[in-house]
Amino acid sequence: MKKCLVTGGAGFIGSHLCDFLIEKGFGVVCADNLITGSLDNISHLRKNKSFSFVNIDVSKDEIREGSFDYIFHLASPASPVHYQNFPEETATVNSLGTMKMLKLAKKTGSKILIASTSEVYGDPLKHPQSEDYWGNVNSFGPRSCYDESKRFAETLSYIYLKKYDLDIRIVRIFNTYGPRMQKNDGRVVSNFIIQALKNEPLTIYGDGKQTRSFCFVSDLVKGIHEAMFRSSTKGEIFNLGNPEEYRVLELAEKICKITGNKKDFVYGDLPEDDPMQRCPDISKAKNSLGWEPEVSVDEGLLKTISFYKKDL
Ligand code: NAD
Ligand code: UDP
Repeated sequence: MKKCLVTGGAGFIGSHLCDFLIEKGFGVVCADNLITGSLDNISHLRKNKSFSFVNIDVSKDEIREGSFDYIFHLASPASPVHYQNFPEETATVNSLGTMKMLKLAKKTGSKILIASTSEVYGDPLKHPQSEDYWGNVNSFGPRSCYDESKRFAETLSYIYLKKYDLDIRIVRIFNTYGPRMQKNDGRVVSNFIIQALKNEPLTIYGDGKQTRSFCFVSDLVKGIHEAMFRSSTKGEIFNLGNPEEYRVLELAEKICKITGNKKDFVYGDLPEDDPMQRCPDISKAKNSLGWEPEVSVDEGLLKTISFYKKDL
């Protein structure tokens, strides 16, 4: 049985990736220190003999589970609220943590995938963003612990590709949502859904005209799988996201409509360095991976809303 390591596997995306890999017949070791993840996300897997969980900090602890055929490095806080609460941990896991995973891949001859982010484009001056855009990022601000450390993770990956010919690929993930996003993680989809379900006003930051695109987690996981397992992905970077672009205000209206909530909005300050527009150009993923999102935003939101409803 081929063996995978998923760092950050008890997190939102990582836990869905663990499910997917188990379903495909892989053995999976999930390494997570639970800083922003939860055992609840993987409780259904704990009895599966092909799955094991190790509670370690991948930035400093050794992984004692032998060698791996495939390493998926997803460990890192991802929500702006979380990474700004844990800036040092975030910068560390994306720098030292990535270095450790690259060294492990080199030592054990594993293929490795690094989870990067659309945040490497910062507040983009090119729209939509394609992989050849270098970005517009503030290196000295509240988001820099995340944005710059992800950029550095990409740099380290480049070094290991060129110096050691490591079998590496990078996915730049755009806003992804779905069941198992922590309800208090402060991201726009979880905030709006919880607020709507509680009949509270939806908190719009700024004028709500800033844009994002929203990819349902099952689509994203399929993209991650293709990026790892398709041929000719070594040394490549892929944008993964849903190219349907929405203003934050439009998302709020959509969620109110689906939940049957009256449109009640309260406006707050736009966070510092909040990108004004974001939308992936996914031509490369379409052409090279044969991948594109299949779940519509309405369908994905319905599934996410019913997940949160169970919990309230
Ligand atoms: P998440 O916070 O739910 O999951 C991250 C997981 O990593 C958590 O379980 C956390 O406990 C774990 N972790 C963090 N530091 C660790 C460390 N030092 N050692 C071991 N485990 C550690 O976030 P997510 O949304 O699932 O994001 C997963 C990955 O995808 C991250 O690398 C993130 O940067 C990337 N990403 C996510 C999005 C998105 O919209 N969700 C967008 C862009 C990029
Ligand atoms: N946002 C908002 N209200 C909220 C949470 C977020 O208006 O309750 C906005 C935020 O300012 C940003 C967008 O929604 O413009 C997406 O924020 P999120 O934190 O989900 O992710 P980001 O893309 O900024 O990393």
